[in-house]
Amino acid sequence: MIKTHGYAAHSATTTLQPFDYEHREPGPKDVHIGIEFCGICHSDIHQARNEWGNAIYPMVPGHEIVGTVKQVGAEVTKFKVGDRAAIGCMVDSCRTCASCKAGEEQYCDNGAVVWTYNAKDKNGNLTFGGYGESIVADESFVLKVPGNLDPAATAPLLCAGITTYSPLKHWKAGPGKKVGVIGLGGLGHMALKFSHAFGATTVQFTTSVSKVEDAKKLGADEVILTKEPNWHAPHAGTFDFILDCVSAEHDLTPYMALLKRDGTLCTVGIPSTPVAIHAFSVAIGRKTFAGSAIGGIKEKDTAGQVRGSFHAPILCGVVSSFSVRSQRIRLGAYDLQLALWDGDGDGLPPDGATGVYREDGDRMTARLHVEKGIQLG
Ligand SMILES: [Zn+2]
Ligand SMILES: [Zn+2]
Repeated sequence: MIKTHGYAAHSATTTLQPFDYEHREPGPKDVHIGIEFCGICHSDIHQARNEWGNAIYPMVPGHEIVGTVKQVGAEVTKFKVGDRAAIGCMVDSCRTCASCKAGEEQYCDNGAVVWTYNAKDKNGNLTFGGYGESIVADESFVLKVPGNLDPAATAPLLCAGITTYSPLKHWKAGPGKKVGVIGLGGLGHMALKFSHAFGATTVQFTTSVSKVEDAKKLGADEVILTKEPNWHAPHAGTFDFILDCVSAEHDLTPYMALLKRDGTLCTVGIPSTPVAIHAFSVAIGRKTFAGSAIGGIKEKDTAGQVRGSFHAPILCGVVSSFSVRSQRIRLGAYDLQLALWDGDGDGLPPDGATGVYREDGDRMTARLHVEKGIQLG
């Protein structure tokens, strides 16, 4: 076993604490990665606080992992020591079912996905994620990181990025298509950038006047404010595809009216309460309400390359060290609450902010990536 060190949640109500643990020695097909960066995903917070009811403690969260290969097994072909490598939400699956064979491991028909943390592997050992110093995984679930990508800025692609990339590709966002994005937060701003990069006419929906200019800077061809009653009427029947990136409860009826015949509205925000849709709103126009979850391993490799090729502007700031507790941090014009370690606040990182941390002795150095221009509350 390899001894390592990270930060673990030990209960739903305590902050993350320094934690020593062990993971397996690399087997013939395994890659041992020294973790350099890990994105902070909302689902880390949900799971650390047992908000999905599936928490296994101690829990080392983190599934947007970027690091450098330290060791490879004898049969590893994709990586060599010193390569940059990444791990997303999964570290294994059954690999034999139709979905796994189709490269859609996240939908494994046998329900055998091994999640990067808060799960048990095939040997019954608890998996530990990216808020640690190192990780071992089979090379089939490890991704290459293109050399032109900033490794820290790559981390959020591993979950938030692929979650928006995959449905946009599946529903063929591209030239001649009109795509709507609901919400301009962690998921929404990535959807906006990908859709714009794919060449679709991309429209941002937002309730906030202050986000209009920011959405345009990020690639929106048009921004539609959704506050006034009947806001949707002038745009009815004009959208091919709408990606819903909002996790809070909201009314979908006006958005269904925006779709063309055979159009699709897909949720990736996945609200925790059941979604109500009037049957007529899908029946008239043969419309589809759909959902999508992360993406397959091959798709993730491609998403990284796409991201590498369009170089969307990202404002990166390295901020001062902070202890493993809640802390407000000022970065340029933005006042950010690093809420992952916040035991009493609202517990969510601000919209549009992606925190990436690197361990630095017994402290963590945060590297905050703020999409340029997004207004943070
Ligand atoms: Zn995630
Ligand atoms: Zn499978």
